Amino acid sequence: MSGLFIDEKAVAGFVRVAVERGVDVGGEGLTYAVPAELSGDGLSVGMRMTVPLGRGNKPASGYVVASGATAEAVGGAGFDPAKIKPILSVERDGLALPEDLIELSRWVAGYYACPLGMVFASVLPGGVKRGAGLARSRVVRLIEDAAAEGVRLTKQAAAVLGALHEAGEMEMKALLEAAGVRTEGPVRRLAEAGRVAIETRVDLRAGLDVAAERVAERLTQRPTLSDDQVAALSAIERASGLNEAGGGRFSVSLLRGVTGSGKTEVYLRLIERLLAETDRGAIVLVPEIALTPQTVGRFVARLGGAGVEGGGVAVLHSGLSPAQRHAQWARVREGSARVVVGARSAVFAPLPRVGLIVVDEEHESSYKQDQLPRYHARDVAIRRAQMAGAAVVLGSATPSLESWRHAEAGRYVKVEMPRRVPGLNTPRVEVVDLVEERRKRRGIHLISERLEHELIETHRRGMQSLVLLNRRGYASWIACPDHNCGWQMSCHRCDAMMVFHVRDPLRGGGGGLPRGYVRCHHCEAERQLEPNCPVCGKKTVVFGLGTQRVEEELATKLPGARIARMDRDTMSRPGDHQRVLADFEAGKIDVLLGTQMIAKGLDFPNVRLVGVISADTAIHLPDFRAAERTFQLVSQVAGRAGRGSEPGVVIVQSFEPGIEAIRLACEGDFTGFAAAELTTREMAGLPPQRRMVRVVLRDRDPAACHRRAAAAADALQAAATREGVIDRVTLRGPVTCAIARIADHHREQALLIADDAAILQKVLTSARNHDRLVSDAHTAIDVDPVALL
Ligand code: ADP
Ligand code: ZN
Ligand code: ZN
Repeated sequence: MSGLFIDEKAVAGFVRVAVERGVDVGGEGLTYAVPAELSGDGLSVGMRMTVPLGRGNKPASGYVVASGATAEAVGGAGFDPAKIKPILSVERDGLALPEDLIELSRWVAGYYACPLGMVFASVLPGGVKRGAGLARSRVVRLIEDAAAEGVRLTKQAAAVLGALHEAGEMEMKALLEAAGVRTEGPVRRLAEAGRVAIETRVDLRAGLDVAAERVAERLTQRPTLSDDQVAALSAIERASGLNEAGGGRFSVSLLRGVTGSGKTEVYLRLIERLLAETDRGAIVLVPEIALTPQTVGRFVARLGGAGVEGGGVAVLHSGLSPAQRHAQWARVREGSARVVVGARSAVFAPLPRVGLIVVDEEHESSYKQDQLPRYHARDVAIRRAQMAGAAVVLGSATPSLESWRHAEAGRYVKVEMPRRVPGLNTPRVEVVDLVEERRKRRGIHLISERLEHELIETHRRGMQSLVLLNRRGYASWIACPDHNCGWQMSCHRCDAMMVFHVRDPLRGGGGGLPRGYVRCHHCEAERQLEPNCPVCGKKTVVFGLGTQRVEEELATKLPGARIARMDRDTMSRPGDHQRVLADFEAGKIDVLLGTQMIAKGLDFPNVRLVGVISADTAIHLPDFRAAERTFQLVSQVAGRAGRGSEPGVVIVQSFEPGIEAIRLACEGDFTGFAAAELTTREMAGLPPQRRMVRVVLRDRDPAACHRRAAAAADALQAAATREGVIDRVTLRGPVTCAIARIADHHREQALLIADDAAILQKVLTSARNHDRLVSDAHTAIDVDPVALL
């Protein structure tokens, strides 16, 4: 160990470093000494460095969260300064984290009970951390109007100038080659004489072809605003101060506009205003880039791609290579792109001055990250805006009950656009009761007579249909036909049924069961179908719905129609979505069938019909948000019909059409649904009125799993007692999770519910400090969980 510690005199200062590791080391960071030879021009908060960690002094990367002259100044009080380890190296080449993002990360770490270093790891995309592709090229530029007289040129210098003459500027190495010069000396002397300039440039062009993607002409049009849009714009501007000179203050507006009311146009106008009248920028969050190419295309088309004066749009998405991400990140950081469009993690985009954050489709559960750090991008956006004095606009046709409740209470500015833009008709929604249908037609039909009729009619008129079934595969149950036997084919590793998948979806059907295999939708394990019941030997039957079966059925009903299926099984490679959506837009597909993937922001004028095969797929899931999700899904997909001048038709099939969420979605009654559901939640003591933390414990050994869950529940109970809030919290658990086992891990949970988030924070902090209740390989702490299975 000796040799690791350094002479006090050689120490230039101290830093607190948050280490980028899964482990919860040091909470808010560890204290290190900075040797004089590493201090350079000084160390500032946000710099990335390598430090020795633990007994073995393993090198680990981390970020400076505080720096000062003494250990006490950075929070390292109580240590013997001579025992503080020195940092190993400073990564001066990497881009440092801006200070406001460090502050935001601190909040995320605290609120979501996650180690700070893990938050940093999320804030910085992989490419940025590794410095991937940040090619710094040296460019030599000819200074045109430099006085040529009076300078005697050497032969080599003349060759350099000659080579530069055509292009005006060249990369150093290429220039030397072209001029036939071996060293940089002649170029440097020319630079000293003012004839050329040598510039180091970061190559930020990598990955910008996203912006060049083909954008349909109608996406670039700037329509005359509808009355609703005008009113919405002025309400948001009034709330945010975006229209005031030098203005802008923290505000949250909830823009509830029916699908087709023109919410995107409102966002675009707000951003145009912001760019024209302030020096601030905007972040636009969309649920999933791959599924919303049109929305992204509109931002790029209207606000400009790379290099546009005063604007420029950076698109951050998962399809980018690390180098491309790095380039986009750097463009944003350096201020050459003032608009950022991206999914969840774009909320951490290093925009120097944020003026506006738009969260489109704010109800989408993909804004919640399902691994550490388990943050919700919408809530982080609100926090970031609060720190920056910026405006937030949450947009949705079906807002989350969390946001809606705040708007109703006046904490958010409620802005509504109840009508579609002029020229768009509201689709007619019909409900088909599948129980009736079964009685009428004797037997189960996936596609009702009404839906079949409209599918044929739509195809005959040369228009397009969208067909939704939020369940992939061919059949979701594989079982013995003998009820007395009761065998069902379940996953060996999960408490879940196996799903039958067809290998080559049959076009036009045929007798017997198509060739296929079975797959678990939780661990993705695959097996052969058991042709006979392993218990009694009877021939296995498969039933239940799946997109593959609908595809087969559609092919039978619509011979000659071009059918495409969009679900997680067909969309496995990057670019698959874009291809299918582009084909659909170009009219090369007549019927697009799929899971919730097709329900998102698609806007195709030729879609006349939307069919929902079963509105019931999620309604009975053991999750308190089941009704809300069902309402959202049915409403969202229904809104895809009739985007053109023809009125749209929506047919919703259901075995239980009387269920409130389905009935009200079909009636387009959001406020009615929200009021009813909020009452239900209030009575049940659930979010959004109350706040929730879910702690999930997993272990291969069921007994150990239960022990851990009991210990976690005890820790929460003890913490609530210690903090004096035991009568203001509800503790549920330990109980087995709805899916009791996934991938050979048993799962139990404890739920902590309280009147407000501050109480939860108090209890979590206390449990963490006293009982080391932290997220680790066995423990997942989820604050404000969105999925409860
Ligand atoms: P939303 O996001 O609310 O569903 P969009 O912003 O996608 O609605 O707008 C729906 C369609 O209407 C788009 O094709 C858009 O270009 C068009 N649109 C938007 N505003 C207007 C307007 N004021 N007049 C005519 N068309 C409009
Ligand atoms: Zn499984
Ligand atoms: Zn059997």
